[in-house]
Amino acid sequence: MYEKLKSLSIQPGGREIAGWEQILLQEKIPYELSDNTNFNIKIFPKEVKRNDMLDYVANGGIGIIEKPGDIEELNLWKSGEAFVSTLHFPEINVNHVVSPTIVDIYNTKGIGYFNVHEQRLIKYEMEIGYHPVIIKIPHGKGFLLVVSCELSKLLGFYGDTLRSYSSYTKVTERVSAIDKRSISNVLVYVLKLAHQLAGIPYIGLWYYPEKEKTLFMFRVDVDGAEGYNTEKMSDISKNYGVEATFYVNKDLCINDINALQAIDSFHTIGNHGDIHNVFDSFQDNETNILSCQEWLLNNLGAETNLYVSPRGLWNESLALALEKLDFKCSSDFGYHIDGFPYHPVVNGKRLNLLQIPVHPHNVGRAQVYANESGNFEEVEPENITEYYKRIIDEKAEKNEPIMLFGHPHGLGYQDEVLNNVFSYIKEQGIQSISISKFADWWLKRSKTDIQVNIDKNTNTYAIETSDKDVSIYCQGEGDKVILPNNKEICIHGSQIIASATPISQFV
Ligand SMILES: [Zn+2]
Repeated sequence: MYEKLKSLSIQPGGREIAGWEQILLQEKIPYELSDNTNFNIKIFPKEVKRNDMLDYVANGGIGIIEKPGDIEELNLWKSGEAFVSTLHFPEINVNHVVSPTIVDIYNTKGIGYFNVHEQRLIKYEMEIGYHPVIIKIPHGKGFLLVVSCELSKLLGFYGDTLRSYSSYTKVTERVSAIDKRSISNVLVYVLKLAHQLAGIPYIGLWYYPEKEKTLFMFRVDVDGAEGYNTEKMSDISKNYGVEATFYVNKDLCINDINALQAIDSFHTIGNHGDIHNVFDSFQDNETNILSCQEWLLNNLGAETNLYVSPRGLWNESLALALEKLDFKCSSDFGYHIDGFPYHPVVNGKRLNLLQIPVHPHNVGRAQVYANESGNFEEVEPENITEYYKRIIDEKAEKNEPIMLFGHPHGLGYQDEVLNNVFSYIKEQGIQSISISKFADWWLKRSKTDIQVNIDKNTNTYAIETSDKDVSIYCQGEGDKVILPNNKEICIHGSQIIASATPISQFV
């Protein structure tokens, strides 16, 4: 007899849960907003009644809570708070996570660490000031996972700064002041650990339609057509079957109409604003977007619902203006770099507007860095190509979508780099997809329901989805999962299953 698996719930509560919800929607694992305790895993808000939480754990539940301070019953005591800029998780190969935050200091063992004396050398072989980020505490029949800071909340903040963004380059860029991609990696790890402790498999929708390990997107920010460079970028990408998106800025391209008309119709046109900047007010942002929109329509016959902000800047009034104007997606490195798409929350409401993070490295910026530092290695074509190959490998390994970008005035001069990067994508068997089509896929995935049913007698799991045109991801040990045609498989480690069974067959 199959019954619905009550795997995970999160207690309702405004901004407090928005970060966790973003991760649950990213992973598309089943969850409910509920106060009930009949779930294997529960994410608790700080305000939860301690006794309720501890009873739930004692009875076999797996609880997750962030920055709870002291928990007397578990003999967990904090020895003060610290403000740190970086967290490290060597256990899961997620290191140097830029995450300025207040942490509770616990003198115990755990997963991940911060150091309250950042960037000091170790002297007399004394490692001092190291404290854990995640603590796994057994209690009764269950476990409580304590995170020593409000990690999930960091996903919701905006704010950008000049910083390095990859260990493969010294080039810096003004990007999100928080490394949200790595924080997401850690939160996914916490969820997977909770499933393992609960003895249930981690089952969600795969990130891509089939079993692809990643997909490749290419974007060009056209801040001036730069002679024939725009046309050349259009031609080279088309030769490799890469459907690029050319985000055109009106003010910087106003005299380049002919050059822009040379962009092949194989590609897509997007909006990159009129004035090459972002404004504080909703009205000014709306006007700036609409001015570009009308100009694109009148001069290139292009109607678009794709946007990227000038200078990568992001603020809430910009997001609200895009939402009002019905834009489908945006991609702003001042808000989020790398990682998976998501819908930002503004004023407590999750927007329809999708944010698809880009990798921020660009040749124009590398050139500025080279001129300032005298380090010209960063702009040698072989090195730029090598850098991009490493980013592609890293993202494929993490199963993240790849979005690279460049400008006609930067990458537009690097034919060799473009050819070599696109060849490498092909060699690696990575498919390319336009940003618009990838956004459509992600929105369809977001709308797809997934339900996991369990037959407790045989420990067999049956997965159902509201749309058959998706793939399932499973991770666990030795659990049986039902595939279409009632075929059973055993999970060992992790697997991607190319389709699932329609909802209600098992209920
Ligand atoms: Zn620009």
